[in-house]
Amino acid sequence: MDKTQFTLKLKELDAKNKNVIDLYNEISALAMEFGTDKAEKSARRNAYYLSMEFLIGRSFYNNLMELGLLQETKEILADKGIDINVFEEIEDAALGNGGLGRLAACFLDSAAGLGLPLHGYGIRYKYGLFSQAIQNGFQVELPDDWQRFGDPWSIRREDEKRLIKFADMEVAAVPYDMPVFGKRTNNLRLWQAEGSEEAQKISEYLYPADDTEEGKILRLRQEYFFSAAAVGELVEKHVKNHGTDFNSFPSYNTIQLNDTHPVLAIAELVRILTADYKIGFENALGVAEKTFSYTNHTVMPEALECWNAEIVKKILPDVYSVLIEIHRKQTQDLTNLGCSDKEISEMSLYSSGSFSMANLAVYVGKTVNGVAQLHTEILKNSLFKTAYKYFPDKFENKTNGITQRRWLMLCNNELSALIDGAIGKGWRDNVSELEKLNGCIEQITESFTAVKSQKKKQLFDYIKKCEGVEIPDNFLVYSQVKRLHEYKRQLMTAFAVLEIYYGIKNGTVKNFIPSVFIFGAKSAPGYKRAKAIIKFINEIADKINSDVQTNNLLKVVFVHNYNVSYAEKIVAGTDVSLQVSTAGLEASGTGNMKFMMNGAVTCGTMDGANIEIVEKAGFENNYIFGATVEDIEKLKREGYSPLNYLSKPEHRKAVETLTDGTFSDNGTGCFKDLYNSLTVGASWHGADNYFVLYDLESYVNALLTINRDYNDKKKFAIKQLKNTANSAYFSSDRTIKEYAEQIWKI
Ligand SMILES: *Cc1c(COP(=O)(O)O)cnc(C)c1O
Repeated sequence: MDKTQFTLKLKELDAKNKNVIDLYNEISALAMEFGTDKAEKSARRNAYYLSMEFLIGRSFYNNLMELGLLQETKEILADKGIDINVFEEIEDAALGNGGLGRLAACFLDSAAGLGLPLHGYGIRYKYGLFSQAIQNGFQVELPDDWQRFGDPWSIRREDEKRLIKFADMEVAAVPYDMPVFGKRTNNLRLWQAEGSEEAQKISEYLYPADDTEEGKILRLRQEYFFSAAAVGELVEKHVKNHGTDFNSFPSYNTIQLNDTHPVLAIAELVRILTADYKIGFENALGVAEKTFSYTNHTVMPEALECWNAEIVKKILPDVYSVLIEIHRKQTQDLTNLGCSDKEISEMSLYSSGSFSMANLAVYVGKTVNGVAQLHTEILKNSLFKTAYKYFPDKFENKTNGITQRRWLMLCNNELSALIDGAIGKGWRDNVSELEKLNGCIEQITESFTAVKSQKKKQLFDYIKKCEGVEIPDNFLVYSQVKRLHEYKRQLMTAFAVLEIYYGIKNGTVKNFIPSVFIFGAKSAPGYKRAKAIIKFINEIADKINSDVQTNNLLKVVFVHNYNVSYAEKIVAGTDVSLQVSTAGLEASGTGNMKFMMNGAVTCGTMDGANIEIVEKAGFENNYIFGATVEDIEKLKREGYSPLNYLSKPEHRKAVETLTDGTFSDNGTGCFKDLYNSLTVGASWHGADNYFVLYDLESYVNALLTINRDYNDKKKFAIKQLKNTANSAYFSSDRTIKEYAEQIWKI
């Protein structure tokens, strides 16, 4: 099918008496036919991205755009009296939690856009990340049955299903292919588990609760399930195309392990080669060493998975034997290198009855990368310090990126058009041309401000519709949207907003420019404190929004069910991007990049990719505050007494709203628990583990400085535009080129 045929068929499509879902499925099917018709065969050498999450978001608009059909479709539908925005009723495919899953989706998009053969492997969950409702200010989780609208962007490949064996059951892995359109069409293959009721559970939920042994076993099954399906298929293809000489396997296949979830793929490859093809163990391990690379995404201990060896032995006895064998080899290798016993135990993939997936990946992987400069330095100097001492050449940095196709062209058509007018359209194919904007910023500040107002208006209309909160035109917009976690410090923003609120009321904050603080975040279902923070923010929002003395100056909104589609609207309509994690804890962040590209200034700490953002866009065009990694280390060394930072009355007043009856936690005691976490700590950490009180004062000052600076609209627009103009480095096109050239050699 060519484009003329597509338009013809679309024009012929009878739209009358059809509901949105039917229309969605029919138009998507047409576009799929158009797109898959021109798909090419796989390349000689391919890279594969194994990831537990792909946070794709909505495919409809993005795929039409990638296929060059968006504008025509919009016009033809308009002729039929249909607004293309009606398809926003179709909810996101949220097969991921947050940054890591969205990164995987951005990477696939960029590779297709650049014409590089990178394919994804993951799980086709029946239910994606829960849909979030807010009741009485509390998060309530509802199942996200994303397939209820149909799934026109996937093709089931019944004939390519595989059998995955566990000690106690066999499970069919049925592939669903989602083409990734761009300059070339790549493939995202998601496996669905079929068979007995037990078997189906494997692809039912994203991250089922793992606080019980049963839950842990299910998680282990999920990880093995998709890793084994992927590796098994690649081996089979290799044998079919090249025979059983596996020395050439790494010349055709390179596999990137996205975090520790797919790391069992290493053991599985060794298992298949030794058991099914009778390759010697050392040779098989050698093949694995040339095939796999590992990306670390976090230094938070809960994400560095360790599997209880007894469980692995029970569920996957053959994989267990391989792991023990790799461990034996590792110990021998490290002894030969002259490592001390202590060093060996630090790097060991097996110790005290459990397997460390990170240590396995570091030992076998040909490269290990962090996701921002600071993060990679932390890997080298602390998390994997010993491994870095012996294998320095394995370590490299690949600073994350985001795709400008979804995060600028699609979500901010207006700004994209403005850029076209200023520097031409070349940046759409070659994103580094965005830098040309630096040469004409002064000339476009007024039109930029007009675009920003327009995007704010669209965002405010949407918030009115979804949240029922009205925000007056042209309020200054501060946004903090991301998963809810103590280290991301939404609680610190909540306190800062309260201080500003009380300051406006008592006259200490003067000439405040009307502003709104937008929060959006989901909390892990079992994470009590994060849920308490959501409740706290909602209480604050209620109080402030209903205060007639201040509500022409200050509004707070917590948008419910934050997801990719909401993010597209928020990043485009924001002036100030809040990126305030405790220094050293946010590996990179990618939300920060989306905001930057859309012309928001960053108000943030020296953490993750914020550092590189302000280096590229200029410190003077952003607002950096708070403790650095070195400051935090010093505080930890010398002792930190958070109570000292409560001595100022304005800080104390804000923090004590948790306990003084200002707000109700509906009798749950969750606010008191938050208060205690800051002031006394808990059995597993000291008081204020994330240095909220330490950074609070400089944070409030930064927010107020921004508010004052906004008085000079032109100067502020220049700062914002400097961010857009220097954002090309944070395109995932740049990241993917680096992976392709330096790791994958594709
Ligand atoms: C980009 C994105 C994230 C990651 O945000 P961070 O601020 O980097 O944590 C999380 N969720 C969604 C829906 C996103 O689009």
